[in-house]
Amino acid sequence: TCSLVWLRDDLRVADNPALVAAVERGEPVVVVFILDEVSPGIRPLGGATKWWLHHSLTALRDKLHRLGGELILRQGAAPDIIRTLIRETGATALYWNRRYGKPERDMDASIKDYAKASGLEAHSFQANLLFEPWTVRTGSGTPYTVFTPFWKSCINRPTPPRLPAPTPESITSPATLPDSDDLDNWNLLPTNPNWALAFPVRWTVGENGAHAALERFFASRIDRYAKGRDFPAEYSTSELSPHLRWGEISPFQIWHATDDFRRDHGNSAEFSTNAAKFLAELGWREFSYHLLYHWPDLATVNFDARFNHFPWGEPDPEILEAWQQGRTGIPMVDAGMRELWQTGYMHNRVRMIAASFLIKNLLIDWRVGEAWFWDTLVDADPASNAASWQWVAGSGADAAPYFRVFNPVLQADKFDPKREYLHRYLGEYEHPMLSGYPEPIVDLLESRNRALEAFKTLADDP
Ligand code: FAD
Repeated sequence: TCSLVWLRDDLRVADNPALVAAVERGEPVVVVFILDEVSPGIRPLGGATKWWLHHSLTALRDKLHRLGGELILRQGAAPDIIRTLIRETGATALYWNRRYGKPERDMDASIKDYAKASGLEAHSFQANLLFEPWTVRTGSGTPYTVFTPFWKSCINRPTPPRLPAPTPESITSPATLPDSDDLDNWNLLPTNPNWALAFPVRWTVGENGAHAALERFFASRIDRYAKGRDFPAEYSTSELSPHLRWGEISPFQIWHATDDFRRDHGNSAEFSTNAAKFLAELGWREFSYHLLYHWPDLATVNFDARFNHFPWGEPDPEILEAWQQGRTGIPMVDAGMRELWQTGYMHNRVRMIAASFLIKNLLIDWRVGEAWFWDTLVDADPASNAASWQWVAGSGADAAPYFRVFNPVLQADKFDPKREYLHRYLGEYEHPMLSGYPEPIVDLLESRNRALEAFKTLADDP
C-alpha cells in the first residue's frame, strides 16, 4: 500500500500541504504529474508554457530525488490515469492541492467520488491561493466584483500558518515504482524553429529559480517597487509570475517573506508602502482567480454582457500578424511584442499598451489577443490573462472604462522617457530610415476616434 500525490499547478516540494500530509501518513509515497490534453474542457497549454513546464518538471524531479522521492510522468485523461495508478500501486490514499477552473474542479470532484466509493482516502488542500474564492464574500453574500473592497476584506484576515520545510530523505518510495513516461517524449520543447533559444537568459525555471527571484527582488528591487513598477526599462518588478503560474513558489511563501522583510526593516513607512503595493499585486492575482471561480468562462465570455453585441468582425490577417510580430510601426507596441517573442514575457505596463492598441486602435476582439498571449507568455495564466484582457477591453469586472484608449506615444514619453526600453527591443528604432522600420499600420488619432464612435453603442445599451 502507498499514498498517491498528484501534483498539478504546484510543482514544488516546500510549502506543499498535499505532499506534507502524504508523507505524514507514514506510507510510501508515489508522486505523479499527468499531462492531460484530452479531457473535455481542459484548455491545451500554450507553447511558451510547455517550454516552462518541461524545465519545471526536470527541476522538480531533482528536488524529489533529494528528498528520497521519484516523479512519475503520465500522459492522457487524468481520471483514467489516476484509476490505473491506484491499481498498479495499490494506493489507499490520494492527495492533491486545489485547482480553480470549472472543468478541473469537476474532474477533481468526480475522482474524489470514485475514491470514496472505492474505499480510498482522498484529501485536497489549499495551497495556491491565499484566500479560497468561496470564503470571500460581500456583506450580502455575493462574490466581489470590485478589487479594492475585495482585497480589503482579504488582508484583514489572520495570516495563514507556515508549513515546515521538507527534510532530506523524508519521502519513502515504494519498493517497486510504476512506469514513468520519458519527459523528452512529451515534446514540450520547440524544435524547428527553436523560438525559446533566448529564454534561459532571463529565466531560471524551477523552485530554486523562484526563490532566487524572490531574494533578488528583496535585495535590489522592492525599494523602488511602488514607483518603478511602471517603468518597463527598469527591472523593478519581481518576475515571479511564471513561477507562480506553476506553483514553484506559493503565495504564502511570498507573503511570509514580505512580512519578515518588513519586520527586519523596522516597518519603515517607505518600505511598508512598497511592500503593500507588491502584496496588492498578488491581490490582483487572487482577484482574478476569484473571478474565474465564480465566472468560469472568463477567458471566452464578456463579464459585461453589453459587449456581447459589439461587432468585432474578423481580424485582417495581415494587421493581426503585424501586431503579433511587433511590426505595427508603433514603437512601444512593437517593443513589447518583441520582448514577448524574445523572452516569453512582457512588462505589465507594456502589456496594457499592446492590448489596448489591439482592441481599441485595431478594433480586434480581446479574445484574439488573449489567445496569442496564452500561446506566447511563459506566465500564461487561466485567471490573470483572461481577467487582464477583459480589464483592458473594458468588458471585465472593475475594468478600465471602455472609452479609455492608451496613447502609446504619450505612454512611451511618460514611462520610457530615455527610450531605453525601446532601444533594448527595437534594434532598428535608432535608424528607422536605414533599417526599414515600418510606417504605422493605423493613424493613432483616427483609429482612436473610430473606436470611441464604435464603443458609443455600448453606452446606449442598458
Ligand atoms: P510583480 O509586479 O512583481 O507582481 C507580483 C505578482 O503579482 C506577479 O507575479 C503576479 O502573479 C501578480 N500580478 C501582478 N500584476 C497582476 C495583474 N495585473 N493581474 C493579476 N496578477 C498580477 N499575469 C500573469 O501572471 N499571467 C498572465 O497570463 C497575464 N496576462 C496579462 C495580460 C494582460 C493584457 C495584462 C495587461 C496583464 C497580464 N498579467 C498576467 C498581469 C501582469 O502583467 C503580470 O502578472 C506581471 O507583469 C508579472 O510580472 P511580475 O511577476 O514581475 O509582477
